[in-house]
Amino acid sequence: MNTSATIEDKIQSFGRDVFVAIGEERPSTFNKNFWTGKIMEWSMSQPEFKVNMFRLVDVLPSLRSSAAIATHVNEYLSAAAANIHGLVEWGVNLKPDSFRAMLTSALVKKSVEQMAAQFIAGNDPHDALKQLKRLRKTGLAFTADLLGEFSVSEKEARHYVQRYLDALKVFGAEIPSWPEAKPLINGHPGEQTPVCISVKLSALYSQCHYMNFERSVTVLSERLGEIAAEAQRVRALIYVDAEDSANNPIIYETFKRVFSSAQFKDFPYPGIVVQAYAKASAQVLDDMLAFARKRGNPIAVRLVKGAYWDHETILSKQYNWPSPLFSKKESSDAQYELLSRTLIDAGDCVLPAFGSHNVRSLAHACCYAAERGRDASRFELQMLYGMAEPIARAFSSRGFLVRLYVPLGQMLPGMGYLVRRLLENTSNESFLRHTFFDAQQVEELLRAPKMLD
Ligand SMILES: Cc1cc2nc3c(=O)[nH]c(=O)nc-3n(C[C@H](O)[C@H](O)[C@H](O)COP(=O)(O)OP(=O)(O)OC[C@H]3O[C@@H](n4cnc5c(N)ncnc54)[C@H](O)[C@@H]3O)c2cc1C
Repeated sequence: MNTSATIEDKIQSFGRDVFVAIGEERPSTFNKNFWTGKIMEWSMSQPEFKVNMFRLVDVLPSLRSSAAIATHVNEYLSAAAANIHGLVEWGVNLKPDSFRAMLTSALVKKSVEQMAAQFIAGNDPHDALKQLKRLRKTGLAFTADLLGEFSVSEKEARHYVQRYLDALKVFGAEIPSWPEAKPLINGHPGEQTPVCISVKLSALYSQCHYMNFERSVTVLSERLGEIAAEAQRVRALIYVDAEDSANNPIIYETFKRVFSSAQFKDFPYPGIVVQAYAKASAQVLDDMLAFARKRGNPIAVRLVKGAYWDHETILSKQYNWPSPLFSKKESSDAQYELLSRTLIDAGDCVLPAFGSHNVRSLAHACCYAAERGRDASRFELQMLYGMAEPIARAFSSRGFLVRLYVPLGQMLPGMGYLVRRLLENTSNESFLRHTFFDAQQVEELLRAPKMLD
């Protein structure tokens, strides 16, 4: 038996153990006892309901009156209501100012707020402290993200920077004194402090655009620099999120400029994100590793598959452009494994952070790390808050550091995030859907992926 067959056997056995640990537990998103679980089930079984429901969720925070909500409920849900649930049928096709319509509006609003609360830990940093403490108590680390889509004005962009500065002040003053702040794994570079934030860079500048490349990098470097200075003061870690293919070159250049500057050359483990679904992802990762070596101090790299597949694929098709992304899900999975190995092999200059809910992808990373003699203090696993609690617990209880990405913010910016998560979970390609809704066989879920593109 050759070496790679041996690793494959270990991955299979490790993966099966994780599924045994998960048992019958369901993430709340797929638990039909909750509204979110019910809505997910209807969305996956009725595509028309899915489109209209998610449109309603998207528009909801901007609707100012019960009558406006009732009108939209009628418009979006009446066609599908009969096939869904008696309660939904009861609440549609009503006069918008009737008592029943008002009751329906209140119920719809409450249900969507409850759904949002599963993925968003609070309105603001103070509000989120309780949840963050609970996570650490259960042995999970966090990285907090302040929800914000693109900024349409400089006032809005400055306000977004300020929200990060305020959050760092609140977290820095409060969290390090908790008993739960002590390292979850001794000597782990990600646990030198319990405070960690993730930043969506493009929202820090209203004119961030690839055609305004140099100025975008200059302005974003100043603003990320302000946040990094505050993070340095309160001893917090930072990850810079990856975005769509148009913004990523700006993001990568800004990251390099800030964290190679004299002020931040020693900043501990600044984190950047590489998306395995991109055909150029191997070059992107090599470039980041070369940057880390030149910097002389290690960085962290969060490896994900990428969150903009539908958007970019549709856009490429519309304009007849060659897509920058793989066309087959299995290719993204295979590339993820290839880059996982590159990251683990580059342990001298990088802290690998594997961001995924896919048991196969994570089992592969953990087994390859073991094969290369890297113990659990040399890498970490990351998952999204509210998406896959049983999987997070299964890995954490095996001694791995699991960090949850925890969004904070108000309803309005929160809805865009919520819709992305709902779309991701209900996609025909989603590992979570295959596991918790389609009940696919474990052998199929753990099958080694091949590059098909
Ligand atoms: C902690 C954390 C932080 C994250 N940060 C970011 C970030 O900064 N930037 C970002 O873009 N994303 C980010 N994501 C989201 C991530 O990119 C994925 O969308 C998400 O994790 C789902 O991937 P998975 O491995 O969990 O699930 P899986 O179900 O195994 O994979 C789903 C993914 O496969 C890919 N895919 C789906 N269909 C196809 C297809 N036909 N062809 C090719 N590929 C396909 C897509 O990337 C899709 O998201 C983050 C995720 C986590 C867990």
